[in-house]
Amino acid sequence: MKIEELIREKPHLQSPLEFYQKIKNLTEQCKKDKEVLKLDSGTSVIDIVLKNFSSVFQIPYESISFLKDEILKSGKNPLKEPATLWSLQLHSEELSKEDIQRMLFILSKPFFVFLRKEGEQVSFMDTGKCPVCGTDSSLAMITENNEKIMICPLCEHGGSFFRIGCPYCFNKDSTRIEILLDDEEIRAELCLECNTYIKSFKENHYIKYRDPFLIDIVSLPLDIVVQKRGYIRRSPNFIGLRIIE
Ligand SMILES: [Zn+2]
Ligand SMILES: [Zn+2]
Repeated sequence: MKIEELIREKPHLQSPLEFYQKIKNLTEQCKKDKEVLKLDSGTSVIDIVLKNFSSVFQIPYESISFLKDEILKSGKNPLKEPATLWSLQLHSEELSKEDIQRMLFILSKPFFVFLRKEGEQVSFMDTGKCPVCGTDSSLAMITENNEKIMICPLCEHGGSFFRIGCPYCFNKDSTRIEILLDDEEIRAELCLECNTYIKSFKENHYIKYRDPFLIDIVSLPLDIVVQKRGYIRRSPNFIGLRIIE
C-alpha cells in the first residue's frame, strides 16, 4: 500500500506517516550509497548520511555540515556506537532542544541499520533486548506458525522470542498479560507485572503494510489508549517517539 493512499485512508496520521516515509527514504538511500560506493571509513559514511539527510529533509547541506566536525570532535565512532550520536552537545540559536534530539535520532538511524548483517538470525531470548544493538523492542510479529519475532526499531533486526512473555521482566504467566485489540486487530500486550507493553501484529497485517514499522505507525492510536492507562513503552518507534500523546 502506497503511503499516499494510506494518508487518504487515515488522514489523522498524515504527519507521522510523512515523517515515517522520509526516515525510510533516508535509510534506504544511505544503505544504497554505502554499498555502491563501498564505503567503510567512518568519515565518508558520515558524509553520505549528512548529504542524504540534507536532501530528504530539504535542509541546505551548509547548515548541517558542522555536524560532521562535531561528530569527529566527539572522538566516538557512530559506525560502532550509533547511540553516542544522541549525546552530542550541540548549541543552536534556531533549534529547540527537542528539535536537536529528534535530528540526532534521525541521523543515528542509518548507522544503526549498518550494524546489522543481512541474514543474521540471533534471537531475543537471552535478554529480551536486540542482540545486535542492545535496544529494547516494543514491536513483534506473530507468524503463521504462531511464533513471535521481536523487531528492533533502530537496527531493524528481527529475532524470535517467547510466544507469551514480557521482554522486560520475562513474566510468562498468560493470566498476567492482558491483550487489547484495535479495530484492525493489531494488539497491545500489557504486562501486569512490570507495567510495560509491546504491540504485536499477525502476518496478514504484514501482507497489507509490507513493513513492521509502518504497522507501528498506523497503530499509534493504540499506543495512546494504552499509555493513558499508565503502561510504558520502552523503546521509540521508527520516528523516534516513545511517549505518544
Ligand atoms: Zn537493534
Ligand atoms: Zn513485564
